[in-house]
Amino acid sequence: MKPAPFDYVRPDRLADAVAALATPESKVLAGGQSLIPLLSMRLAAPSVLVDINGLPGLDAITVTGDGVRVGALARHTAMLESAEVARVQPLVPMALAHVAHATIRNRGTTVGSLVHADAAAEMPVVLALLGGSLDVEGSSGRRTIGAAELFTGPMESAVGPDEVAVSAFFPALRPGAGVAFDEIARRHGDYALVGAAALVEGERVRVGYLSVSDVPTVVDLTGVAPDDRADAALERLDPAGDIHATAAYRRTLVRVLTDRVVTAAIDDARGAGR
Ligand code: FAD
Repeated sequence: MKPAPFDYVRPDRLADAVAALATPESKVLAGGQSLIPLLSMRLAAPSVLVDINGLPGLDAITVTGDGVRVGALARHTAMLESAEVARVQPLVPMALAHVAHATIRNRGTTVGSLVHADAAAEMPVVLALLGGSLDVEGSSGRRTIGAAELFTGPMESAVGPDEVAVSAFFPALRPGAGVAFDEIARRHGDYALVGAAALVEGERVRVGYLSVSDVPTVVDLTGVAPDDRADAALERLDPAGDIHATAAYRRTLVRVLTDRVVTAAIDDARGAGR
């Protein structure tokens, strides 16, 4: 199918992009790896596409001891291939390795994935688990949205229609902490049937899940006995059945993945994994 007709602008200043978004039914175009298929299937029909690929300075990845700040035009591949990112927050490349295929990662942006807020996507759950944030700029200025407030519903984020997300921040892994990521998909690169990311910091154990609810969901399993962790997680999750997997199968995958990622994150914290 072909997209419905739309106007197209490619501003070279952030202020002009924000001004263009004042047009009703306008949409930001970043890597286009989610938006263009939606246009082609006519599941979205914006009046104006505001292409942000001409904005200067938004492709930076800045790594400090505090964490990783990724600009809105940094592609998944740049994040995945950065040794500095892997050193400061190894969960980012662990998860990115499961995002689609190389051709899609070469165009798709990590920030775009966060704004798109697909509960089956890897990076939203990573941001939620780590307690990261997204910086956005709109007609009322710049603001920071914490991960806990960012994901508001199925494919809905708290980014306003007149706002451009300019960067996201993934906090660094603390000394002595451990992380792990795993997912089950029919083929490598497919969206996960279920995925899980674990963060272990001392006694604190938390696991984030993808593809089990409308939004990325983080469950605190601190103090829960190892054999009870999967049950405790399932009390908080409500996996649905669809054409890809039954609800019962997704519950089984939650059990398998919870044990797998928590064990791996504990090993990682002990220094066995890195
Ligand atoms: P776009 O497609 O350009 O935009 C997506 C949405 O976000 C649009 O609504 C757009 O308006 C908005 N948006 C984007 N950037 C901004 C911004 N800076 N400010 C405000 N709004 C913005 N993703 C996964 O996580 N896991 C997968 O397994 C996976 N598999 C895929 C398989 C295929 C075949 C394809 C085509 C895509 C797949 N993706 C997957 C999606 C991919 O990761 C996308 O790149 C990502 O979801 C969106 O990034 P983008 O830059 O392409 O955004």
